[in-house]
Amino acid sequence: MKFSMAGAGPMGQALIQRDIDILSPSYAREYALVVDKAEGSEVWDVDGRRYIDFMAGVAVLNVGHRHPRVVEAVREQLDKFWHICLADFYYPQAVELAEKLREIAPLNGRARVYFGNSGTEAVEAAIKLAMYKTGRSRFIGFFGAFHGRTLGSLSFTASKSVQRANYLAGVKVYHLPYPNAYRPILVQQEGESYGDTVIDYLEEMVFRTTLAPEDVAAIMVEPIQGEGGYIVPAPGFFTRLREVCDRYGILLIVDEIQSGAGRTGKWWAIEHEEVQPDIVCFAKGVGSGMPIGGILAPESIMDWKPGSHGSTFGGNPIAAVSALTTLQVIEEENLLARAAETGRFIMDALVEMEGRHPSLGDVRGRGLMVGMEFVKDRQTKERAVDLRDHVIQHAFEHGLLVIPCGTNSIRITPPLNVPHHLVEEGLHIFEAALTDAEAKYL
Ligand code: PLP
Repeated sequence: MKFSMAGAGPMGQALIQRDIDILSPSYAREYALVVDKAEGSEVWDVDGRRYIDFMAGVAVLNVGHRHPRVVEAVREQLDKFWHICLADFYYPQAVELAEKLREIAPLNGRARVYFGNSGTEAVEAAIKLAMYKTGRSRFIGFFGAFHGRTLGSLSFTASKSVQRANYLAGVKVYHLPYPNAYRPILVQQEGESYGDTVIDYLEEMVFRTTLAPEDVAAIMVEPIQGEGGYIVPAPGFFTRLREVCDRYGILLIVDEIQSGAGRTGKWWAIEHEEVQPDIVCFAKGVGSGMPIGGILAPESIMDWKPGSHGSTFGGNPIAAVSALTTLQVIEEENLLARAAETGRFIMDALVEMEGRHPSLGDVRGRGLMVGMEFVKDRQTKERAVDLRDHVIQHAFEHGLLVIPCGTNSIRITPPLNVPHHLVEEGLHIFEAALTDAEAKYL
């Protein structure tokens, strides 16, 4: 999106000027939101304007801003100790969180847990573990994927070329088309699921001509493509992918950094697919905004020797108690079921809007990972990028926070416990923005 100051008050504009003067220009801001405080599913800016939060700090605040239980747990921990270094010493907070993660891990076998601080570090750990375990050095990823911005994870990221431009990415990754049935780029056989088409292409073209499967350490995939446009994979894709991995001794890494921690109505989005991965990357929603990430893998896979990986801050005690309490709140407040239910309500509302708004080309998602793609024409599927940008800006100026994904899509990812009246109010603002955008751009 092209950045504009519109929507910010005088205090906000002054702060943005100072920010522009000093902060790295590599940050690509969406709009002029300057936050003062936040609570639950609402945010206030420095000029006192109130917003409904349908983006949750980019799918991070799964139990909302400052959930009282998380605040209390963090306060208690602040009074004990903040840091000691998990890579060198021991403490209960990290073990307790790991035990909880083992309980909910979508794996075949008892999970072990590695902690870093962010999504990209989780992905780096997964890459290294796959190389360590298999002794192989090549990987398969997917076009449209976003796995992070450090050099290893960036080798997989294929969402926007600007994110890769000027950097020599370090890991050898071969990209496949994501099984996106709305925009298939491979030729489908009659009656075939696009999920099968993609796997046939991998086996009959890639493996036959360019890449020996025996050289491949792992395939890394998002169970719902996030940054790339909130794309739900075509049916059958994951079952076939698992079979391919088993046949050639390739590890299956799922990146649950955006889709995990209950966002889709199950603990992990891969649970919708009925296959078990070998390595799971987590971050974002697990920590309620405290920086934590990491990987889960069965003991039989995570058996690297001491010193082979580590981090000074990973699994920090403050982040660990924040994460453990977040997972407990999700369970005790029944937020998996609630995410599924609120997600259905939002999807139904958007499907109904499709009848009134011709620019809504495709509505899709699972639970509270809801996306929609805007088109100029439903037949040609020409991407309506300006219209999409206008919807986001108009919504912001009228008190609703949503963010883009893909080239011409918007994602809706409120906290899992977003109150129903805020969902209704937010959808109202959203539809008004859409009406305004269609009047201008269709
Ligand atoms: N993987 C996925 C699926 C993501 O959505 C993101 C961030 O948006 C990342 C990895 C990278 O996470 P981080 O920004 O914490 O490094």
